[in-house]
Amino acid sequence: MRYAVLSDIHGNIEALQAVLADAAAQADAVICLGDVVGYGADPVPCVELVAERAQAWTVGNHEHGVTGQLDLEWFNPYARAACEWTREQLDEDHRAYLAALPLRVELGDATLVHASPSHPEEWDYLLLAEDGYAAFPAFATRLCFVGHSHVPGVWSVGSSGTDHARGAVEVELAEGRRYIVNVGSVGQPRDRDPRAAYAVWDLDRGRVTVRRVHYDHGLARRKIVAAGLPRILADRLAVGS
Ligand code: ZN
Repeated sequence: MRYAVLSDIHGNIEALQAVLADAAAQADAVICLGDVVGYGADPVPCVELVAERAQAWTVGNHEHGVTGQLDLEWFNPYARAACEWTREQLDEDHRAYLAALPLRVELGDATLVHASPSHPEEWDYLLLAEDGYAAFPAFATRLCFVGHSHVPGVWSVGSSGTDHARGAVEVELAEGRRYIVNVGSVGQPRDRDPRAAYAVWDLDRGRVTVRRVHYDHGLARRKIVAAGLPRILADRLAVGS
């Protein structure tokens, strides 16, 4: 069994379609860690495609912003403008669907969560080595998949010590170790690589691989500008920041 693990699609249908096309040859099923909406110009097609394709979907702070479960004061001005615009695009059924998504899901050996397994509703960022190590007691499974920072990375703990690798692309899962894997962002990468990111979790081989996929970010950028969203949200897609 192989899962494609997607996070932070952010209304970018061009990136989502490219990732799903790549994943068709890499994985048997799709799971999603949230922030399907916000920033990009195509929230409705992204919500509908993820709802149709994902076996599990944990909620992100942008879904909660759109549904009113998270105060927009929490967001920076660009994210807030995108939340307000996105809210207008979605109908009541979409909003009800998003409002009912779980904060956390256990799938076999893995816990799925958008931000951090400890208090996922507080939307803390796991950025430093210590942030990740401190989160291990908050889940019982061997693996935990997260998104939220839009930067791929891996934390692991075990009897031979701790390890943190920012931007790690391939992890061989070792006996007796536990892992937190940030799968990066499909629709708004922030690690200076503009290609879409997602992870393949291969249960038979005991391996997690972060893949990068080219997509038409020029089209995604033009749609953001045409929608009247803040221009910075378009420009950053070209550089992956
Ligand atoms: Zn995000």
